[in-house]
Amino acid sequence: MNTRMKAAQISKAGGDWELVERDLPQPKTGQVRVRVEACGICHSDVLVKEGLWPGLQYPRVPGHEVAGRIDELGDGVTAWSKGQRVGVGWHGGHCFVCEQCRRGDFAMCVNRKVTGVDFDGGYAEYMIAPANALAAIPDELPAEEAGPFMCAGVTVFNALRNSGARAGDVVAVHGIGGLGHLGVQYARQMGFETVAINRGQDKQPLAQQLGAHHYIDATANDVVAELQKLGGARVILATAPSAPAISALVDGLSPGGTLLVPAAPAEPLSINVFSLILRRSSIAGWYSGTAKDSQDTLEFSVLSGVHPLIEKYPLDRVAEGYAQMHSGKARFRVVLTFTN
Ligand SMILES: [Zn+2]
Ligand SMILES: [Zn+2]
Repeated sequence: MNTRMKAAQISKAGGDWELVERDLPQPKTGQVRVRVEACGICHSDVLVKEGLWPGLQYPRVPGHEVAGRIDELGDGVTAWSKGQRVGVGWHGGHCFVCEQCRRGDFAMCVNRKVTGVDFDGGYAEYMIAPANALAAIPDELPAEEAGPFMCAGVTVFNALRNSGARAGDVVAVHGIGGLGHLGVQYARQMGFETVAINRGQDKQPLAQQLGAHHYIDATANDVVAELQKLGGARVILATAPSAPAISALVDGLSPGGTLLVPAAPAEPLSINVFSLILRRSSIAGWYSGTAKDSQDTLEFSVLSGVHPLIEKYPLDRVAEGYAQMHSGKARFRVVLTFTN
């Protein structure tokens, strides 16, 4: 049995990737150790790389799109077993005692932890996770596909399934990238009339292949007019990181429609509130989901044939993989793979 492991860490805000050897961590009460098989590189990992998370402690191993197998159980873990395939996502556990937890709203726990931010994540051969942050991975799902579902997947899946849209409603996905290419697939599989919106023509064939009934090229068309031709969108899932583009979308909503924003653009939105009032429409954020939500995402994806499009990099090439994610050129999720 190995007593050492390889990990990729950041030791200061803005620091470079460091490949290091560390002692194998031991799970404490209520925790498990996961042998990592794949870990997605998410745009939110920039929070660790650049030190943008308040109170972040270094060195830190990022990574919150983890898929692997339990290889050691801490005391008191009864619902999970050694060898079981598990995912660990952005939601890194909750306290069970705060006001929100007492109401059962674990995602809103005031003491919630974030994997790879508050504790070391999956850019390593092994990691420690609280048992309450584990999602079981269905047998049919390869680890490199399960990884991206643990943040990107659950975020858009959970946003859409809680959006209030019903089968047959018009749901638009703005931006066909890391989040959007999954959003289009989920929207289609949930039974919505699915509209993909992106700049240019080059992503049209792909968007249609992913299940979009309609494609709007935002450089050649008036997006709002096109959406209103369909009666307006009950939900617009805004995934492109452009504040002006997102702000303009409110006029494309149907009465009572919602502009859902699961990922923050750098700049504030500038919203025409009169437009919101006239349509009784709203704009809302969406925050990830619990481990059970992630497990639902994995199971729904297998059931309905939703797949992430991925580019794989071995852990040794983490700097290259991260740069590829950050360039915006990845199609569409970058995933670290492990050969241990
Ligand atoms: Zn993420
Ligand atoms: Zn709590």
